[in-house]
Amino acid sequence: MITLFSNRKEDATDIPDSGTFVRDLAKGLTQQDYSSLLSALNKLAIVSVTNAKGDILYANEKFIEVSKYTLPEILGQNHRILKSGHQPQSLFIDLWKTISSGSVWRGEIKNRAKDGTYYWVDTSIAPVLSSSNIPERYVAIRFLISEKKEIEAELDEKATSLEESRQALLNVLDDLNVERNRAVEEKARTEILLASIGDGVIATDAAGTTTFINDSALTMLGLTRERALGSDVRALFDIEADDKSLPKEEHLISRVLATRVSLATDPKKTLSFVTTDGRKFPVSATVAPVLSSGKLIGAIKTFRDITIEKEVDRVKSEFVSLASHQLRTPLSTINWYAEMLTAGDAGALTPEQNKYVEEIYRGNQRMVELVNALLNVSRLELGTFVVDPLPTDVVKLAKDVVRELEPKIFERKIDFTEKYADSIPIMQVDPNLMRIIFQNIATNAVKYTPPGGRVILDIHVEGTGEEAKLVTEIADTGYGIPKEARDKIFTKLYRADNVRTKETDGTGLGLYLAKSILEKTGGSISFVSEENKGTTFRVEVPLTGMRKKEGSKPLNT
Ligand code: ADP
Repeated sequence: MITLFSNRKEDATDIPDSGTFVRDLAKGLTQQDYSSLLSALNKLAIVSVTNAKGDILYANEKFIEVSKYTLPEILGQNHRILKSGHQPQSLFIDLWKTISSGSVWRGEIKNRAKDGTYYWVDTSIAPVLSSSNIPERYVAIRFLISEKKEIEAELDEKATSLEESRQALLNVLDDLNVERNRAVEEKARTEILLASIGDGVIATDAAGTTTFINDSALTMLGLTRERALGSDVRALFDIEADDKSLPKEEHLISRVLATRVSLATDPKKTLSFVTTDGRKFPVSATVAPVLSSGKLIGAIKTFRDITIEKEVDRVKSEFVSLASHQLRTPLSTINWYAEMLTAGDAGALTPEQNKYVEEIYRGNQRMVELVNALLNVSRLELGTFVVDPLPTDVVKLAKDVVRELEPKIFERKIDFTEKYADSIPIMQVDPNLMRIIFQNIATNAVKYTPPGGRVILDIHVEGTGEEAKLVTEIADTGYGIPKEARDKIFTKLYRADNVRTKETDGTGLGLYLAKSILEKTGGSISFVSEENKGTTFRVEVPLTGMRKKEGSKPLNT
């Protein structure tokens, strides 16, 4: 039996408090009290005694139970057998320094049981000193605190994760701040940009209520910002298309908000804004939907006053019109004199002279055609041309055009077939305009088909009731229209490369005229083509006829 805390040192002044307390306590105890105390201690604490090197001399039951070693296994072993290796060496250096200098060491130690599991103990180690005050044994009393340590570790973990969450939240807040500042800067930049551009810009919400309007728009529309913001954009000014007031539901903004598709003004139509103070000016406008995550949140309208462009166009067309007019008189004179010369009015011509005069006549004819076409273009663009629908036998009209073309058909040895359906009624069309269309497509089919080719003209009715239309198809086996030329074929003065070298005759104005006439009178024109295989043009005119239009000039055929 080992006597605990039997300190041989007589002068106990430097014995730590716990030792003094226990010793003083022991003094007043009977042997029985002493035994009870020891037995209570043994139940509560892990008690061990080692020699000065730390070899275990005594271990109580609790020690055995917790360390999972048997008594024979543990006795004589150095205490370091229980070291977990999870604590810094400095802790043990401090421990040894304290106890070897005769003081009590107290601390928390993590130990490793025989089965490899770990446990924490609140450890007090007191040296038992020899007569020369040198520690010869150490008594260690330990209390199991694994549970407390687990809770502590759990709390630590929670505190760490809480700290991490707090940090993450702070980071998110930081990011949000940066984003918000960036958005504020971006908004300011966009507003400065929108305010400084010359085009009018109006933004609306999904209902068409004005949410933004720049200074240019306010000036052009004669509005104040207070009046504009919060009002339906369609109530701020009127829109006229070709001088007719456009219903609100047909405004670009209404159509864009309904369809979510960007729209722009049709350059062929004149769209004007009419302000509340009665000013009217032509505009070019674009409206785009504003979508956020696929949801429509509004629209942006940009517009420009195109009064000057329109004026320039008008002046240009007037100049072409005037110049063409002036050219017609000398051209007629050349025509007459060339005809008189070939007729022998100035005496018989030699075959060579005759050839030259014919060249003059043909060249002059080409010039007359060009001047007439230019005049037609300027009349179409100035809007001065007349559409005067009359009851017309379109089949007879088409036959006449083909008869006029016969010399050319014959010359090029074209196999020309005409197919006219029986059901074609007399139609309300402008015969003059219908002739221009037939002439253009028929002449092209013959002109752009190499000798020996085939052309089929087929006129019939398609559809019934209001949908019924007169369809003219003219198919040839000619040069075809190259892919890259297809979307330019109806533009002014355009001639595709593949025919320009083969057929020098041509103005590049025929199809432009035909399309302009058809679009302005309710019809349409389209084509399908394959290079070196042939082309089919298709013209559609409503069976109800052409829309009438007042004007000062007819077009030349
Ligand atoms: P052009 O006076 O040159 O015939 P058009 O406006 O009538 O002018 O036609 C424009 C261009 O379209 C032609 O120059 C030609 O390149 C092409 N084109 C028109 N019709 C045909 C056709 N039937 N076959 C091949 N190309 C055609």
